[in-house]
Amino acid sequence: MHEFSYHAPTSVNEAINLLATHGAKARLLCGGTDLIIQMRAGTQQPSCVIDAKRISDLRRLSLDPATGLFLGAAVPCVEIYQNEAVASRYPGLVDAAKLIGSVQIRDRASVGGNLANGSPAADSVPALIALGAVARIAGPDRERTVPVEKFVVAPGRTVLKADELLVGMQIPLPPANASSAYLRFTPRNEMDIAVVGVGVAVKMSGEGCLEAQIALGAVGPTQIVAKEAATYLAGKRLDEATLEHAGRLAAQAATPIDDTRGTAEFRRHIVSVLTRRALLATAARLRPNHSGN
Ligand SMILES: Cc1cc2nc3c(=O)[nH]c(=O)nc-3n(C[C@H](O)[C@H](O)[C@H](O)COP(=O)(O)OP(=O)(O)OC[C@H]3O[C@@H](n4cnc5c(N)ncnc54)[C@H](O)[C@@H]3O)c2cc1C
Repeated sequence: MHEFSYHAPTSVNEAINLLATHGAKARLLCGGTDLIIQMRAGTQQPSCVIDAKRISDLRRLSLDPATGLFLGAAVPCVEIYQNEAVASRYPGLVDAAKLIGSVQIRDRASVGGNLANGSPAADSVPALIALGAVARIAGPDRERTVPVEKFVVAPGRTVLKADELLVGMQIPLPPANASSAYLRFTPRNEMDIAVVGVGVAVKMSGEGCLEAQIALGAVGPTQIVAKEAATYLAGKRLDEATLEHAGRLAAQAATPIDDTRGTAEFRRHIVSVLTRRALLATAARLRPNHSGN
């Protein structure tokens, strides 16, 4: 691996100053489970690595009844799904956090890193989008917010400027009649990248859907919001015909390519299947006798 300087600041300001000094050659490190591999492969060659794990704002996981969940960018996946209050309110996020890598990877890997890496296949991103998450970004002059659905702009590219860092994600508190789910398809059960990922969040009244959000991963250059499918669901009972049609509309929103891991046609088919299943899983989570996630 090439030589680089290592810094472990304890505040956002200190990290911003380091970014200002080192410019585009600096990289934030949360868990390092993407960055270290990219540095070993030579695809990323930062001259300065800024370890975020000692910045308390980026390690903060807090649930507020008014503002919802603040998930610091460097909070490892394990801390998300081991937190019962978070797990019960944000099951879709937990589905995704539990799927990332292995136990060892999840001890370090963060949702912030998953998002900032900019991969269209990142598991947590469709879940975050479905939940209405907003990214909080700190820069030299001010903090700004960007909806997560607009954060990734191309494979490996995000809205972050060279002098900015991701502080965390703010996720609204879902009402009592809402739930969420994330499902992915991979050829192997574990340690594989999504061929398709689908995140949904649904607000229900009995068996009827009041409002839905659907986001797709790995079927386009960035995550895709399946707006038509979500709009179609509003005010409908989630019966077989409705679910089938919502799945078809979601598949139409996808823009997949053919590659060695699946053809575009196959991926579209999987989008429709996973959308249907994720909607069913979400509705099941709202039934009174449902036990856990
Ligand atoms: C064996 C293995 C299995 C994996 N399995 C999966 C999987 O199933 N699903 C999946 O989605 N991913 C998977 N990954 C990829 C990786 O683990 C995830 O993307 C993880 O969530 C990245 O988080 P991290 O904290 O390690 O990020 P890091 O590696 O620390 O950072 C990732 C990128 O984001 C940038 N960055 C990080 N934090 C910030 C910040 N606060 N501000 C600005 N930029 C920042 C870094 O500079 C880097 O470019 C796997 C990786 C490995 C090695």
